[in-house]
Amino acid sequence: MSQSILLIYTGGTIGMKQDPETLLLKPFNFGLITEEVPELKKFGYHIDSYSFNPVIDSSDVTITFWQELATLIYDNYDKYDGFVVLHGTDTMAYSASALSFMLDRLDKPVIFTGSQLPIGMLRTDGKENLISSIELAAAMDSDGHALVPEVCIYFDSYLYRGNRTTKYNAENFKAFRSANYPVLAEAGIHIRYYREYVHYPETWGEGIRLHTEMDTNVAILKIFPGITPAYVEAVLSTKGLRAVVLESFGSGNAPSMEWFGRMLSESVAKGVVIVNVTQCHAGSVDMSAYANGAFLSECGLISGYDMTTEAAVTKLFHLLGRFSDNEEVKLRMKRPLKGEFSNK
Ligand code: ASP
Repeated sequence: MSQSILLIYTGGTIGMKQDPETLLLKPFNFGLITEEVPELKKFGYHIDSYSFNPVIDSSDVTITFWQELATLIYDNYDKYDGFVVLHGTDTMAYSASALSFMLDRLDKPVIFTGSQLPIGMLRTDGKENLISSIELAAAMDSDGHALVPEVCIYFDSYLYRGNRTTKYNAENFKAFRSANYPVLAEAGIHIRYYREYVHYPETWGEGIRLHTEMDTNVAILKIFPGITPAYVEAVLSTKGLRAVVLESFGSGNAPSMEWFGRMLSESVAKGVVIVNVTQCHAGSVDMSAYANGAFLSECGLISGYDMTTEAAVTKLFHLLGRFSDNEEVKLRMKRPLKGEFSNK
């Protein structure tokens, strides 16, 4: 059996070229990507490609872009065994997180990848990333079931659960990490799958469900020593605000000043959903560890446990889009939807 893969090119460094006059990197025509990687023809797979028009630097990603991408996968779902999305690295963790919530009952791989150096450059990391991603998207067991039926990011030899990743290095080929969840696969001489960490559907072939509704009335409030009441007030009084991701210190701690607690409590009383995630790159929020954390719990904040900010923000967009009742959103924020946090 020959697997069918849909390769979706959205933009990003992987398909960029240097403008000879300005020396700036600019996106170029997708046709050149397949010219640059003739190795693709060596796969015995049927590979179709689709290019966004225009292609974008991923800093320009919008909700509409996610809706278009998720709908494209949904519309082509039955025709392909797997999907590879070429995407800029800057917001890849946001897009992979968003898609993990938008594509419900997914039982085929959706692998995001990109590169730090354009694919046409001699030392590019783009070729290996692209070739291995295609292999991962096509990988099946003897029953014809996908080995990694999740929204993932593949980068520099590692396959991660998409909604667990963060871009943490703007320079190295190893640009992503998933500090709180093990890798799903690793490409060395062979591709090694860590199936114990992969989520598999209880029933295969149930049919994918698409959720494109999103509400972006969310703010990120990163606290720091010296934070002023005026600043917090400005964020919390944002017009239309329905939810806040509070980036706290350490295991979920925040300043215990009276004004800070009062502002948060007033916001929660108005129905705003406030989720506590840590500014640390690894580890989890535990609002029972310190008095300065317990105080946030008393203000009505929800624990985001070990969720990334990218996952928390996009999960809120998704839930707020689906439910007009913030209490329903709160309830669903407390449960992992797509393996985005561990609440041990
Ligand atoms: N600015 C680029 C983007 O995110 C960087 C990259 O592709 O790695 O689209």
